[in-house]
Amino acid sequence: MSKSLFNDTSKCTACRGCQVACKQWNKNQASETVQTGNHQNPPDLDYNTFKLVRFKESDQPEGLRWNFFADQCRHCMEPPCKFVADTEVEDAIIIDSETGAVVFTDKADQIEDFESVRIACPYDIPRQDAKTGRMSKCTMCIDRISNGLKPACVQSCPTGAMQFGDREEMIKVAEARLAELRKVSPKARLVDANEVRVIVLIEDDPAGYHDFLMAGARPLRKTTRQELFAGLSRSIRNVLS
Ligand code: SF4
Ligand code: SF4
Repeated sequence: MSKSLFNDTSKCTACRGCQVACKQWNKNQASETVQTGNHQNPPDLDYNTFKLVRFKESDQPEGLRWNFFADQCRHCMEPPCKFVADTEVEDAIIIDSETGAVVFTDKADQIEDFESVRIACPYDIPRQDAKTGRMSKCTMCIDRISNGLKPACVQSCPTGAMQFGDREEMIKVAEARLAELRKVSPKARLVDANEVRVIVLIEDDPAGYHDFLMAGARPLRKTTRQELFAGLSRSIRNVLS
């Protein structure tokens, strides 16, 4: 049955248990990091970091506000990364028929135009190993969820900020929590809930979390559109032009 993850940022304390659990389960190496003036560490997603708790401070009329957001692949219902990758290597990226997880396969190693895949992602998720050229991102813990377990991040979350289950149930849980939160936070909203399997609930303006929190939050640069177009196969380009 198709699955979804519900990420309620209003319950997140930025403990980073999910980030550590992700790294541990996937046996990903530690990432070199630098101090960037806040507690976000490492500074960005990378080949070995599939999940990153983002911190953003802002001055608001009621005082300083700190927003936390555990960033990861949203497992799009119709993933643009796959559509672009398929034009180069078919099934380099697949959608798991049981769960809906979007997974990079071994064939993804054959993709030469990584930038087109990254640019296609509205959430700026895929990353590449600088040495080997391999691509990576969150797998929704496909090895765990296929065996009835929760993703490692959800399992580790001590506050209930993350839940995982059948999509219909998660949509209901997310909508119920949204209605509850709106009573105290009128700006609360679900982010792109109909388009993605990782449903994020926020209680502040999207810009108060991360540039790529929601699809279309930052319009594609003109050159990016050209680059994306160039990444499509000749036959698709002919249809579009
Ligand atoms: Fe692909 Fe990006 Fe969607 Fe993940 S969030 S499925 S990497 S397009
Ligand atoms: Fe937030 Fe839960 Fe991740 Fe801790 S484990 S940073 S509370 S989402």
